Amino acid sequence: MSHNVPFLDLSVAATEVETEIRSAMKRVTASGRFIGGDEVGAFEHEFAQACGARHCVGAGNGFDALALVLRGWGIGAGDDVLVPGLTAIPTWMAVASVGARPVPVDVDERTLGMDAHCLEQMAGPRTRAVVPVHLYGTPVDMEAVGAVAREHGLRILEDAAQAHGARWKGKSVGTLGDAGAFSFYPTKNLGALGDAGAVVTDDDHLADTTRVLQQYGCRERDRPELLGVNSRLDELQAAVLRVKLGRLAEWNERRQVVARRYLEELSDLPEIRLPSWPREAQPVWNLFVIRSDRREELRLLLERRGIGTLVHYPVAAVDTAPFADWGRRDAAPVSRRAASQLLSLPLHPHLTRADQDAVMTGVRAAISELRRG
Ligand SMILES: *Cc1c(COP(=O)(O)O)cnc(C)c1O
Repeated sequence: MSHNVPFLDLSVAATEVETEIRSAMKRVTASGRFIGGDEVGAFEHEFAQACGARHCVGAGNGFDALALVLRGWGIGAGDDVLVPGLTAIPTWMAVASVGARPVPVDVDERTLGMDAHCLEQMAGPRTRAVVPVHLYGTPVDMEAVGAVAREHGLRILEDAAQAHGARWKGKSVGTLGDAGAFSFYPTKNLGALGDAGAVVTDDDHLADTTRVLQQYGCRERDRPELLGVNSRLDELQAAVLRVKLGRLAEWNERRQVVARRYLEELSDLPEIRLPSWPREAQPVWNLFVIRSDRREELRLLLERRGIGTLVHYPVAAVDTAPFADWGRRDAAPVSRRAASQLLSLPLHPHLTRADQDAVMTGVRAAISELRRG
């Protein structure tokens, strides 16, 4: 009677749109243009519209999208950039990659989003920008972050890699600060069939600079104006993303339905804490992350019952090897504690009702077993 539920199966989503993807790919092969053709331009236009932003600039991946914006602002050696203590490691790495120093801001105990009070405490004379992360698909309190940023003259770069379509007071993430960085890594809410990313912004100058930086600093071939990099969104991925963008709202809605069931039906359980979010936020559930002081035991019990889980993320950035000597470990106690408690349950748009039932039954049974010792 056992019903195994893998943490994630991306093939179902790909199969659902396979016909459209094949014809999109045919269009690209027939065009003979694989970099810098019409698909990228069309996707950029469509994604900017979907976000409500003036500009979208495609990039090679989400990490590059973050780094391109920081570079575009001239942030580098000698500068500090505030980042959440709890996030996917690319947020930190992108800051370090331009030569700036990532400075941890602790997260809110309840929502796990960047804590504005901690932000206030960590802003200093070298601080140039802040990178709020809409972690797990839950928008950060952007009013609180915005107020501190304004007071200290900081630019705001939203890391929206996990939150395509999420909204704060009805406004799309990525458009709530000065720029937003998106990843289209396959596991994201809008995922390519490989690596891809994008920057969105209303700032004409930043959009222009980003575009120049991403092609070796050249506006015109072979005539660099700036020290640039190579980070392009390619035609094939753009064509695939156009197809999937057409499904984003529906797939986010399906994620929401699953999340609601979990929230309702697991609310009475001991040993775990369910996700919570600011009232003004409309999350899109890239991940459904519960917390438990007995995370490792729970994870093992679920694994034995065939329920796949993952941990996002097991170690706070301040405790990872590359950042161990950067100091400020003391500044992120909530993030560090959370890292030992987090557990992601299976949640994606193609999780069947039977799968959802199996997950909930599994969690319930695992917790009973935990309590029996
Ligand atoms: C996935 C992710 C990134 C990086 O995206 P890539 O496309 O993998 O480079 C950055 N930040 C967060 C929060 C992410 O989840």
